[in-house]
Amino acid sequence: MPHTRYQTIEVAVPLPVDRTFHYSVPEPLRSSVRTGVRVLVPFGRRKVTGYVLGRAVDPSGELKDIIEVLDAEPLFTNRETAFYRWITAYYLYPLGEVIKTALPSGINIESRRKNVTNDDGSIFTHEHLTTGKGIRREKFYHAASGAADASGIRGAGARILLFLLENGEASRANIYEQFLNPSAPLKRLSELGLISVEEREVYRDPFREEDVIAETYLCLNDHQAAAFCRIAESVSAAEFSPFLLHGVTGSGKTEVYLHAIAHTLEQGKRALVLTPEIALTPQLVRRFRGRFSQGIAVLHSGLSVGERYDEWRRIRRGEVAIVIGARSAIFAPLENLGIIVVDEEHEASYKQSEGVTYNARDLALVRGKLEKTTVVLGSATPLITTFHAAKEGRIHYLPLPERVQGRPMPESRILDIRKLKGVTFSPELIAAIAENLEKGGQTLLFLNRRGFATFLLCKDCGHIYRCPNCSVTLTHHRAKQRHFCHYCDYSLPAPSVCPECNGTNIGLFGRGTERLEDEVRELFPDARVARMDSDTTSSRGGHARILKRLEDGSIDILIGTQMIAKGHDYPGVTLVGIVSADATLNIPDFRSAERTFQLVSQVMGRAGRGDSPGKVIIQGISYDHYALLRAAAHDYQGFYDEEIAFREDAGYPPFSHLAMVVISGTAEKAVEKGAQDAARSLREERESLKIRAEILGPAPAPLAKVRGRFRWQILLKARNRTELKRLLHTFQRNWKPPRILRTIIDVDPVDTL
Ligand code: ADP
Ligand code: ZN
Repeated sequence: MPHTRYQTIEVAVPLPVDRTFHYSVPEPLRSSVRTGVRVLVPFGRRKVTGYVLGRAVDPSGELKDIIEVLDAEPLFTNRETAFYRWITAYYLYPLGEVIKTALPSGINIESRRKNVTNDDGSIFTHEHLTTGKGIRREKFYHAASGAADASGIRGAGARILLFLLENGEASRANIYEQFLNPSAPLKRLSELGLISVEEREVYRDPFREEDVIAETYLCLNDHQAAAFCRIAESVSAAEFSPFLLHGVTGSGKTEVYLHAIAHTLEQGKRALVLTPEIALTPQLVRRFRGRFSQGIAVLHSGLSVGERYDEWRRIRRGEVAIVIGARSAIFAPLENLGIIVVDEEHEASYKQSEGVTYNARDLALVRGKLEKTTVVLGSATPLITTFHAAKEGRIHYLPLPERVQGRPMPESRILDIRKLKGVTFSPELIAAIAENLEKGGQTLLFLNRRGFATFLLCKDCGHIYRCPNCSVTLTHHRAKQRHFCHYCDYSLPAPSVCPECNGTNIGLFGRGTERLEDEVRELFPDARVARMDSDTTSSRGGHARILKRLEDGSIDILIGTQMIAKGHDYPGVTLVGIVSADATLNIPDFRSAERTFQLVSQVMGRAGRGDSPGKVIIQGISYDHYALLRAAAHDYQGFYDEEIAFREDAGYPPFSHLAMVVISGTAEKAVEKGAQDAARSLREERESLKIRAEILGPAPAPLAKVRGRFRWQILLKARNRTELKRLLHTFQRNWKPPRILRTIIDVDPVDTL
């Protein structure tokens, strides 16, 4: 297809700059330059890779020539460019960096050095990026026409030929699997002209080993059907339309998504499903693959760079109808999108914490608007802000107030554990576990801290073990025999000698999942116990292996961190014990009550999803906190009413928009001074622009030091988003901090730590 030939182009470079640049295209390159390809351009004294955004509008002055075109096919479309530009403006992040984040790193998999001759005859060497090298190619063998009549071939050669004749073709890998030492016979067959070889591009398939079991659609109940109808209508109408699917745990939200997606595909459109990484279980993927026989791509962090790149290429080429993925899948290059589903929309993990601090849940709405699609946000515990938007009618509300098939919500109790004085289990919880074991039910025990002991103290001199790089205490891990920092890679061997007094009498206080496992094994020696946290799931597929054992019924008691809370449907679980609900409540952040309510509700939601009813026991020091009381009572509305009153009083979202400016560096004094300067210029700019915004700080961040960097922060609150944005843009333009400081502007922070 012919395309416009550009003489001058607009290019975004992945560097900390707040604008794009114009270049001219030398005649020989004009036929290969188009929107979405990468080009090599001179930039100052360097050569950098840039992204072509399109024709330069009003180019002025002397333009430099681009040096080379790096891609044969565009990597992104005009529509995606609009999305990237939106992100740049909203999150105040360079466009080139945004594009780099959006594209799979596999496009840069291999680089080689290359000499380039300039027009003036000079030569220089640069890293040449290729798209081709990350692509896997495989050899395929075919029987030549007439090979069937060949005579005089015996032994291995004859068997291989027969195999090829029967199968039409076979990959090299396949032949090596089937035959011992096939290389000599293959060579002979090929010399005789009886077979031909072809090299083709292949995809790495992350699911090769998995069998797909076809699933049938379940008949929707009334609430599900009502929700489905509204969504289906909207998909058919092809306009932007946002929904909140608010369904209690076990109400069958996934079934609604599956029906909605089937309807979308029937309309000839495609679907994007976002889910938190942790909920992206093989179980969920299996359910999708069981319904939709082909055209599914899955994107998550467990894939290799090459696998990701292959999935991305399949999507880009239109070979995929459904993409399921974690946060970065919001950039999946699906065209003709009909629906975006954001499962567990309340999850903080939709926020990217490094680089472009985007929130995939929010971007789903933005992309939905740009591409005129239906967006379904699903949760049992929606964000306070989402529920508020639904109440105001900005999001359509679809409730699923009951569990499927009339199953009851689990019965729950909160226990005051102040009187336990450091003992892990209340007698009630022990009795409940024993009873559940007796009945053959499975138990989940939740504790949101990993490791053995979370607080280490020298009993001789009182020295507390802290990380030298971060403002946190070390955690003892017994299996690894070390004390670890959970924020950086610092660790000390254990047992250790007190650095203050050389004492060897270390007190291990606080309790993590590792110790909990010990205690459970001691209390219930005959039970089959397993633990799921990031220590036991670090190997590839580790997470899936544990869940598989739970599914098989070969685990009686599963202990875990928030990993066990998410999106799993295991009907054998009839008891959930929340060993301590306090850890998240005590975090100094305006969302800690909301987080606790969500987490406790989600963990509780794992109980009683099968035929037997479930039971939940919650232990807490803050046993009378509204987040715990409302969670235990399955009372979202009640929690919302209390929480929204607090938000209104304190002026937090949805009653304001937030942004946080974080200044960090290794020199403590310089960071403090930098933060003060930043706050001063923000205040001056606020006055001169007459912007109504509250500026709080500067103050040391609650996590005052991480990885050797001191952190100070300034919190901005404003009722009007446009005004806040104007202030931030002005600040960013004028702010010239010393080079040793790093400044991060976090728009819509999900926490203020
Ligand atoms: P949620 O995501 O809301 O927690 P799921 O979608 O995982 O709930 O559904 C919970 C269980 O109920 C699943 O095992 C699912 O197969 C089953 N289920 C969903 N809808 C129906 C239905 N209409 N009839 C019978 N079972 C259903
Ligand atoms: Zn540390």
